[in-house]
Amino acid sequence: MATKKILLLVLDGLGDREYEGKTPLESAVHPNFDELSATGVNGLMYTLAPGVVPGSDTAHLAMFGYDPYKSYSGRGAYEALGAGIELRKGDVAFRCNFATIDSSGRVVDRRAGRIEDTHPLEPLVQSIKLPGGAKLVFKSTAKHRAVLVLRGAGLSRMVSDVDSHGLGNIQKCMPLEKKGAKTANLVNMFVKKSHDVLKDAPLNAERRKRGLPEANVILLRGAGTLPAVESFQKRYGMKSACIAGGAMYKGVARALGMDIIDVKGATAGVDTNLEGKVKAAAAALDNNYDFVFLHIKGCDVMGHDGNFDGKTKFIDNVDRYIDHLMVRNDTVICVTGDHSTPCELKDHAADPVPLLIANCGRTDGVRMFGEKPCASGGLGTIRGTDLMPLLMGAANRARMFGT
Ligand code: ZN
Ligand code: ZN
Repeated sequence: MATKKILLLVLDGLGDREYEGKTPLESAVHPNFDELSATGVNGLMYTLAPGVVPGSDTAHLAMFGYDPYKSYSGRGAYEALGAGIELRKGDVAFRCNFATIDSSGRVVDRRAGRIEDTHPLEPLVQSIKLPGGAKLVFKSTAKHRAVLVLRGAGLSRMVSDVDSHGLGNIQKCMPLEKKGAKTANLVNMFVKKSHDVLKDAPLNAERRKRGLPEANVILLRGAGTLPAVESFQKRYGMKSACIAGGAMYKGVARALGMDIIDVKGATAGVDTNLEGKVKAAAAALDNNYDFVFLHIKGCDVMGHDGNFDGKTKFIDNVDRYIDHLMVRNDTVICVTGDHSTPCELKDHAADPVPLLIANCGRTDGVRMFGEKPCASGGLGTIRGTDLMPLLMGAANRARMFGT
């Protein structure tokens, strides 16, 4: 029997709770998702395990079939890979924020007024010298965000965050294990030196004049190292591609050896180029890719904002474009979320997420895509690490055990 291709559409933070009897997904008008539910099988998924609140990074690893408890090695690595940095074994990568400190060294704005562009500041930070032969790679990404990679002997990701997610004194980086001492030391030195090189930058002088918060220090968090995992291609024998707006998702995919397809206007927000992303996914399936991971972030953003109507509207919008993918008989289509981000919590929850698998030659009587209908679907409730085996089976790619 011929094998099929697989499209995995992840609507980040899709799951939610009921408000007046309906979740955002159930309130949205989505004839295309409903058609996929009706012509496929449905269920619920705990991406990590019941009672565990998933992070997006660990949840994605699990959905790709990698046990995050064994393969997760810190978020910074995914941010660096997603920003296009070549990460080497032994490197330690961090997520960074350009932030504002006042004259007494207290953080007064964690995002430097959500500064639009920090690329003019990039060379100043890159010029920072660290002792003991340690090298650094620094890259400004979107807005106040950036990535730092420390390179050298004896580094470790077992260090605490400098960014406390709050205002006030900068938190000192501390080793979480003895082997983290050298790295913690370098991080504290880097933070201090970042202020030295940034405080008199022309861009900051100009911001000062305009009364805007200066980008005069860099705060670090999420230390991570290159995860040592078997590639997706080797594990599943499929040529795979990732289409995403957010750097971290591209980074997770890159860590597994997937190709990254960049789409103009793809952002990790509700303003993303939905049509462009969906069309790029369809083109990738036409162009020899066996597995395409399409990531759309907007639902999570709306959930964090507590914006029920915004989340509902965003789901309507996604539904409008996915018909480009539904015409394919050669592709199993899976639609799900990496975790729920209930509007009432404005954060991730341990609740399971709805899941559908269409074009797999089976149906289960479910006619609508939503948390409630999926709860009575034929897939039952699965865990994230069950997803790839299920999809491999649906695509006629599973191996026989026995004879
Ligand atoms: Zn997520
Ligand atoms: Zn989130």
